[in-house]
Amino acid sequence: KANRKFHPEDSVIKVGNVKIGGGHFAVIGGPCSIESKEQMVEVAEKVKEAGALLLRGGAFKPRTSPYSFQGLHGDGLKLLLEAKKATGLPVVTEIMDASHLPLFEDVDLIQVGTRNMQNFELLKELGKINKPILLKRGMASTIEEWLMSAEYIMAGGNENVILCERGIRTYETSMRNTLDLSAIPMIKKKSHLPVIVDPSHATGIRDMVEPMSLAAVAAGADGLMIEVHNDPARALCDGPQSLTPEAFAHLMDKVTKMREFF
Ligand code: PEP
Ligand code: MN
Repeated sequence: KANRKFHPEDSVIKVGNVKIGGGHFAVIGGPCSIESKEQMVEVAEKVKEAGALLLRGGAFKPRTSPYSFQGLHGDGLKLLLEAKKATGLPVVTEIMDASHLPLFEDVDLIQVGTRNMQNFELLKELGKINKPILLKRGMASTIEEWLMSAEYIMAGGNENVILCERGIRTYETSMRNTLDLSAIPMIKKKSHLPVIVDPSHATGIRDMVEPMSLAAVAAGADGLMIEVHNDPARALCDGPQSLTPEAFAHLMDKVTKMREFF
């Protein structure tokens, strides 16, 4: 179902009132983790003002260490939905367990993180609903494996899948991951699904987010997902890669100019 052979036109996925794919480009902005009402509403208003069409924020955080901040869970989702109400932006947040699905009723786009890309039972459950799914690439997955994971969701009847390249593990250690920009044109060859890029997790380094965003646009990405925090130095998760709202606005200006070439 994900294969371009049987579906030559680009898919356009609707998330709330926003379209992604087939020439429709959207930027998702927001903090790594939902931390407080003030943080969430402030960041939401600023990313909206800068031109983001969707709002992100994690409530269930897949942290490497069990001692790191794990997210605010259901309370966090409530804050995210308050920010949705305040700004009108559709919201994106990660699910880690299918049993949490009832909490995601008002979430517009459900994210499957890199660590769960091959959690096939989760993918099958997400195939049974008709909400769009943002499927991030496994950190050590091939493009073929990634597309097969999309297939797991689509096989169940949910064809609303957006792919997200977020960097892969290589021998290079100076960045958090290695952004595989070549995955974008390769996905476009093999599949009709939209593909967006997350330069925040791909690099882990704030200064690299803007250049990699521009490169992603040049490579044909259908959108971007960028971490933005009102006080990155105090962020509970991923501060070093988070942009200030001002830096995000600057990036949005450049991305808009870059898009004019395409
Ligand atoms: C995230 O987007 O919050 C996240 C945890 O990303 P990834 O799954 O790509 O590491
Ligand atoms: Mn993060």
